[in-house]
Amino acid sequence: MLVGASGMYYRSDDGRDILDGTAGLWCVNAGHGRREIASAVAAQLQELDYAPSFQLGHPLAFRFAERLAEIAPPGLDRIFFTGSGSESVDTALKIALAYQRAIGQGTRTRLIGRERGYHGVGFGGISVGGLVNNRRAFATLHGVDHLRHTHDPSRNLFCDGLPEHGVELADDLERLVQLHGAETIAAVIVEPVAGSTGVLLPPRGYLKRLREIASRHGILLIFDEVITGFGRLGSPFAAQHFDVIPDIITSAKALTNGAIPMGAVFTSRGVHEGLMQGPEAAIELFHGYTYSGHPAACAAGLASLDIYRDEGLFTRAAELQEHWQRNLLSLRTAPHVADIRAMGLVAAIELSPRHGDPGSRGFEVFSRCFEKGLLVRANGDTIALSPPLIITRDEIDQLTQMLSDVLKVTP
Ligand code: PLP
Repeated sequence: MLVGASGMYYRSDDGRDILDGTAGLWCVNAGHGRREIASAVAAQLQELDYAPSFQLGHPLAFRFAERLAEIAPPGLDRIFFTGSGSESVDTALKIALAYQRAIGQGTRTRLIGRERGYHGVGFGGISVGGLVNNRRAFATLHGVDHLRHTHDPSRNLFCDGLPEHGVELADDLERLVQLHGAETIAAVIVEPVAGSTGVLLPPRGYLKRLREIASRHGILLIFDEVITGFGRLGSPFAAQHFDVIPDIITSAKALTNGAIPMGAVFTSRGVHEGLMQGPEAAIELFHGYTYSGHPAACAAGLASLDIYRDEGLFTRAAELQEHWQRNLLSLRTAPHVADIRAMGLVAAIELSPRHGDPGSRGFEVFSRCFEKGLLVRANGDTIALSPPLIITRDEIDQLTQMLSDVLKVTP
C-alpha cells in the first residue's frame, strides 16, 4: 500500500521510502506532490468547479488547448479533451471514422491496429489493441485488422539505440491494403514506442515508412502517445523525436502530471476542417464527455506545462538518455536477462520465463524490488521502467544497483 509521495519517492504504509521507477503508471513526469499543481487546482475549484462542455465553454479549456498547441508537432493544433487514455483512443478512432465519412469516403470504416499494441480498455481500444488477455473475454469490433508486431529477438537483442532490423514490417500496411482495399480503411493506430507490452522500440525507419504508406492510400495515421507524450523520449511528443507527423495524436497520463484524470486528442487542421463542414449551428461530431475539459483538470494541466517548460523536462530525457542506457545495459549479464531495451527515460528488462510458470519471475522481481525500496512495473516477465523525468544521475545509479541486487538473488 502506498500512503504518500513526494518528489522521486513514494511512502509505503510501513513507513519506507520507495524510489519511483515508474512515474506512478507512466504519468507523474514532474515528480510527486507538486505544490504548484495542488494550488492551481484548489484555486480553480473555488473559482469555477465545473462547467459543461456541451453548447457552453469556459476560458481555461481554451487557454489549455492553446498552450498544448504550442508544444504539439507542426499542424496538430486542434484539441479535443477527454478523461483518460482509453477515452482518447476511442475518441481518435471515432474522429477518424467521422472524418472519412464527412469528406465523402464513407466506405472507409476499417481500423488497423498492431499485434501487441495497447490502446486502453474501451471497445475501440481493445479491438485495435493486440494483447490477447485484454480481448479474449470480450466482444471486439468487426472490421478491424492488425499489423504484425515489431519485436524480433532473433535480430535485435540488446540494441544500443533503435533496432537496426525490421523497417520492412511497415510494409504490412501495404499488405492489408492489398487484402482489404484502401477504400475500406479509415485509419491505422500504433504506439510509436509500444509500452504496456514490454517497451518495444520501433525499428529504424519503420514509423517513416508507415507514414508514407498511410499517406499514399488516404489512411489516417494515429500515434497513441499516452505513454510517450510530454517528454518521455526527450521531446514533447514521440512524433517530434522520430520526425514523423501523424494526423492524430492521443495523449493522457502526464498531461496533468497524473494529478487529475484527463486526456487530450490532437488532430491536424486538415482533419478538423474536414469534419467542420456542417452549418454553424449544427453539431459536427456527436461525441463528448461530461468531464471533457474539466476546469480542475485544465488547471492541473496548465500548471504541469509550466513546470515541464520551466524545469526543462521536455528535453531532460534526451540529456539523461546516454547515462540511462549505459546503466541499464550493464545489467545484461545479470541472471535470466534475455534482452534489454532502453531509450529516452524508458526501458524494459526482459527476463526469460520460468519453465511452465510464465510471469512468476517478473512478479517476484517486482515484489523484491518493492521490499528493497524500488518501484518497478512487471508486465509478465518484462520489467518496465519509466521514472519521473526529474530523476538525477545518482538516482539512476541507485535504481540500477537495487535492480542488480534483486536480479542476482531471484531464482
Ligand atoms: N494507450 C496507451 C498507449 C497506454 O499505455 C494506455 C495506458 O497505459 C492507454 C492508452 C489507456 O490509458 P488509460 O488507462 O488512462 O485509459
